Amino acid sequence: MGLDRFFSIIAGYIDQYAVLPVLYHFGWMTWEELSFDWCLVCVYGMFAVIVTYAVCWPLEALFPVERWADKKAVFTDVIYTILSRVGVIPVVTFLIFYQLQTAFSGAIVDAGFIPPDLEMVFPFLFGHPVLTFLCYALILDFADYWRHRFSHTYRSWYALHALHHAQRQMSFWSDDRNHLLDEGISFLWFFTIGLAIGIPPLQFPLLILALRFVESMSHANIKLSFGPFEYLLVSPRFHRRHHATKAAGHHSCNYAAVFPIWDIIFRSADFSDVWLPTGDPKAAEVLHSGNYFEQQYWGLKMFVKALTRPRRKAKA
Ligand SMILES: [Zn+2]
Ligand SMILES: [Zn+2]
Repeated sequence: MGLDRFFSIIAGYIDQYAVLPVLYHFGWMTWEELSFDWCLVCVYGMFAVIVTYAVCWPLEALFPVERWADKKAVFTDVIYTILSRVGVIPVVTFLIFYQLQTAFSGAIVDAGFIPPDLEMVFPFLFGHPVLTFLCYALILDFADYWRHRFSHTYRSWYALHALHHAQRQMSFWSDDRNHLLDEGISFLWFFTIGLAIGIPPLQFPLLILALRFVESMSHANIKLSFGPFEYLLVSPRFHRRHHATKAAGHHSCNYAAVFPIWDIIFRSADFSDVWLPTGDPKAAEVLHSGNYFEQQYWGLKMFVKALTRPRRKAKA
């Protein structure tokens, strides 16, 4: 039995026994035709977490950069990952993107245009789904490079992003430790790009999960070099430089999430062979060691404070 078939069977069970009864109970039958695909995206999300764990956990055990006696802060990151990959990503990237895509395509067809599509602009991509998928990934990652760089440039935005940087025990679970508002901005940004380049609805969540898989790896507590591939794919060492205590806030480097090419082109790359301690010394302790709700609350509080506080020279 192929993996695809296996996923479909599990998604079918979840749909039949958990999702459809809820939809019928509340009279939400309009969602019925999407519910299976949505369950499938949830299963992909679970699979992504399992694969990440299977790959990263042994490597972290064998080649750790740091060893920690107390792993409470890591446990909070586990909550972030499961909530994000199995909960938020499938809901937001499939159900909401699908709705937006249908409305957007409908509106431009009504206006007499044909919806945009990457294969129409670059006909050589036609019939090469893997290459098209890679192009989508490159474009989304380029957009994410600038989103991330701006989140370090603007004081109020960094007040939210500081939650991601406050972690001193960085591990493969740390990628999803983001403020919900910051995640919301990311998704809006991704939606806009995704709609503009015509990503098909079921490919969109898969792209996000694939990119997030590399991002999880890049946060791993692994003292392992990618060798020459460090210039092609963001490695734990490369992203660790971005999380270094010295780099927190305004003067960071290595913003790319998946492809370091963007840092090379826009002159923010640092490939030096160092394994620095991570964290943001200016962030409140609660952002490192608080529980999920405390961190979300504190992040929002700092965001509002940064928005309302009179401007002074930002050196976050
Ligand atoms: Zn950052
Ligand atoms: Zn990071």
